[in-house]
Amino acid sequence: MLSNSLIEKDRAHYFHPVVPIRAHEERGVTIMQSGKGVFLKDAEGNELLDGFAGLWCVNAGYGHESVVEAAAEQMRRLPYATGYFHFGSEPAIELAAKLADLSPGDLDHVFFTLGGSDAVDTVIRMVRYYFNARGETSKKHFIALEKGYHGSSSNGAGLTALPVFHDKFDLPMQWQHHIASPFPYRNDATTDEEIIAQGVANLRAKVAELGAENVAAFIMELVQGSGGVIVPPEGYAKAMQDTCRELGILFIVDEVITGFGRTGPMFGCEHEDLTPDFLTTAKGLTSGYAPMGAVFVSDRIYQTIADAAPEGVPFGHGFTYSGHPVSAAVALEVIKLYEGGMIENAKTVGAYFEAQLKTLLDHPVVGDVRAKGLLAGIEIVSSKDTKAKPAKDKDVAGRLAKAGYENGVIFRAFADDVIGLAPPICITEAEVDLLIARLRATLDTILDVEG
Ligand code: PMP
Repeated sequence: MLSNSLIEKDRAHYFHPVVPIRAHEERGVTIMQSGKGVFLKDAEGNELLDGFAGLWCVNAGYGHESVVEAAAEQMRRLPYATGYFHFGSEPAIELAAKLADLSPGDLDHVFFTLGGSDAVDTVIRMVRYYFNARGETSKKHFIALEKGYHGSSSNGAGLTALPVFHDKFDLPMQWQHHIASPFPYRNDATTDEEIIAQGVANLRAKVAELGAENVAAFIMELVQGSGGVIVPPEGYAKAMQDTCRELGILFIVDEVITGFGRTGPMFGCEHEDLTPDFLTTAKGLTSGYAPMGAVFVSDRIYQTIADAAPEGVPFGHGFTYSGHPVSAAVALEVIKLYEGGMIENAKTVGAYFEAQLKTLLDHPVVGDVRAKGLLAGIEIVSSKDTKAKPAKDKDVAGRLAKAGYENGVIFRAFADDVIGLAPPICITEAEVDLLIARLRATLDTILDVEG
C-alpha cells in the first residue's frame, strides 16, 4: 500500500519539525493527500474539516485554481529573479506596493523573507542597525512576552518563550527578556483595566531594571498563538505601544498569525489603530500556497537605515529567495481573494464562530473559551472551580488529537491542554456548525479528566 512504504521512508529519513521524535517514529506519519475549501483528505481517504488551516496559514482555504494558475503562469514566464544587483520582478514590486497600501500607519517599506522566523530575525538585525546608525550603541536588549512565539531562528527562538524552544538550545540569550503574559483566564487581576495596568507596569519595571538606554525594543503578538491562543484585553497592545514610545524603545508587532483576516480585519493592528515601528507577517500572506514572509518597516526607520551606510555600501542583509516572484504572484492572487469577500466573511462568520464556540463552555471539561475572529483556544480543566489542570498522565492533548481525527476534525492540541483553532477564513456558518459538533463529540471522549 502506498502509505505503508511512505511511512517507512518517513520513519527512516524525514526529520520532522516540532514533534516528539521517538513518539513520531513509533506512531508513524499521517499523510495528507488533497484539499478543497476547509476540507482535507488523507491518504486513507478520510475527509477532515481542517480547523487549523494547516498551521494557521491556509487562510483562503484549499484548492483555489486562480492561485494555482498565477503560480504556474509566473513559473513559466520567470521562475526566479533576485532582488540583489538592483534587480526585481513585477510581482515582487506590485506586492510591496500593495502591502504598503494595506498596512497600518507609515509602514511603507517591505522587506521580503521566506517565512515568519526570518522575518523576526530580519527585524532584530534592522533594529540593531538602526540604533547603531543613530549612535545609540548601548540599545541591545529586547523584551518579549512569556508564552510568546516569535519563530525558530537562533535569535527568534530566544524571544519565543516556550520551554521546548529553549531547553538544550542554550536560549534565551543574555539580551533577551520576558515579562508576564496578559493571560486573562489565569491572572490575579480580574478586570481588563487591571490586566492592562499590570502589563504596562511590568514593561516599565523591566525597562527600569535594564536601563532605558540599554533597551532596543519590545515585541508582541496581538493574540499569543503557540502559547495557547491567549487573547489580551482590547486596549492592551495600545497601552504597550504608548509605553514603548514614552520610554524610547521600538514597538514591534508580530502578525505572522493575526495578519490577513485571521482575527477579522486584514491586520490585527486595525482593532486598536496601532502604528508599530515594525510589523512581521508570513503564513496568510500566501495562504500557505508558497513560502513567503514580509517585514513592514516604518518610513522613519527606513530613512535612518538608508542614510546610514556610506554611498555605495550595501545593506548587508538578504536572502536568495527574498521577493521570490512565484511566491509574490501567489500572494497577489490570494490578496485578491481576501479583498473579494473573505475579509468580510472573516468578520461576519468570525463573530458567529466566537458565539458558537462559547456554547462549549457548558461542557464539563471546558474551563475557558477565548477567541478573536477565526482564532480561538479552548482550555481543558479538571475542575472549573479551581481551574486545575488535568493530571499529566491523562495525556489530554494526545487523546484529544486522536479523538478529533476520528471525529473528522483537525485542531492543534497544545501540550498544556488547550485546543487551538484557526479554520480557513472562507469557512461558512454551516461549516462552523459542523466544526462545533465535531469538537463537542471530541470533548465527550475525555470526560475522565474530571477524575
Ligand atoms: N511568529 C509567530 C507569531 C508565529 O506564529 C510563527 C509561526 N508559527 C512565527 C513567527 C515563525 O514563522 P515560520 O514558522 O514561518 O518561520
